[in-house]
Amino acid sequence: MSVARPRSPRCTRRAGKIEPFYVMELLEKARTLEAKGVDVVHMEIGEPDFTTPTAIGAAAVRAIEAGRTFYTHSLGLPELRERIARFYAESKGVSVPADRIIVTSGTSGGFFLLSAVLLDKRRNLLISDPGYPCYRNFGTLFDARIASLPVSEATGFEITPEEVDALGIVPHLLMICSPSNPTGTVYGADSIARLHRLVRKRGGIMAVDEIYAGLTYGTDAPSALAVSDGIVVIDGFSKVYAMTGWRLGWVVVPEALVRPIQRVAQNVFISAPTIAQYAALEAFDTASDLLAMKKTYEERRAFLFPRLKELGFRLPAWPEGAFYIYAGIERWRMDSMEFVERALFEARVAITPGYDFGAYRAGSHVRFSYANSMERLKEGCERLEGWLATL
Ligand code: PMP
Repeated sequence: MSVARPRSPRCTRRAGKIEPFYVMELLEKARTLEAKGVDVVHMEIGEPDFTTPTAIGAAAVRAIEAGRTFYTHSLGLPELRERIARFYAESKGVSVPADRIIVTSGTSGGFFLLSAVLLDKRRNLLISDPGYPCYRNFGTLFDARIASLPVSEATGFEITPEEVDALGIVPHLLMICSPSNPTGTVYGADSIARLHRLVRKRGGIMAVDEIYAGLTYGTDAPSALAVSDGIVVIDGFSKVYAMTGWRLGWVVVPEALVRPIQRVAQNVFISAPTIAQYAALEAFDTASDLLAMKKTYEERRAFLFPRLKELGFRLPAWPEGAFYIYAGIERWRMDSMEFVERALFEARVAITPGYDFGAYRAGSHVRFSYANSMERLKEGCERLEGWLATL
């Protein structure tokens, strides 16, 4: 009698195509070292090292005590949507009707919803390389055709309309990030307007991830909403408000997209986290906390950029926003994967390989994050200095 052999479940080809985050794997190796008592300096992490401002936490506690533990409206708490509209009016001088604002489970939830309504196997998703890796993976989840546009210092790491045009395909969804992860590029209003005009002319739509818009240094990141209400904007509370674990973001979309997104949101998420939404009502009124965090990032950047240059990293220009420095490692003639692995085991410093952000020149770049204390950044640089001298 034959016994049926247990089969492992067969996953889809789509699932097989989703790339892991190399940095997560590196982080696991770092944690293994730490468990053995080795001290590792973390310069790979993409989240604020600050805890959430206390007033935001207090609002969450009040919401729990008041029993606000039910689902909210699928598009978000009406008062939060109104508050976000007021944020645009007050800080960006843009009038955005609250009914075009949809509160989501993190910006990641926002990408999911947008991808669900805008992408399928006949649609093209245009992204930059290097760029934030999740855009590509959301495209893959919805079977989109993905076109990566290599960006370099030649254009300040910006995608240009000429390059989009030269692809000769319909840019169904052009996704950019400003300020960007990993390069810190801030797109000016003019660049956004030119891209938007081209994409619209070719029958597509443009979306801008503005999650780092509150973290710019010496310049302001214009909101794409000031350019046109035909552009989709994705934003969230994770970075500027130090609320990564609360899983809350929002999207601003043209009116015609609200209802299709709502139908998907009702099914996939029902609503964004309720307690987090009540907490976020306070977020825009914590200006002094936000300013203190931003000032701290700015000080770290002022230290880290020249120090990395001194160590031999190739840094073409100051990143204008976010909390990353994208650095060339050409001088050491080593692939970035080997570079970060050796930096971890030999210098006990964790950094992110370029491969997490695409393929273009990925082997010759790494990303540093300065979401760590000045003391630790200094320590990390000292360790790198000692190690690099041995190469
Ligand atoms: N966009 C960018 C560019 C990011 O770097 C990140 C976080 N790494 C996110 C979105 C994800 O944010 P959220 O926590 O809102 O899902």
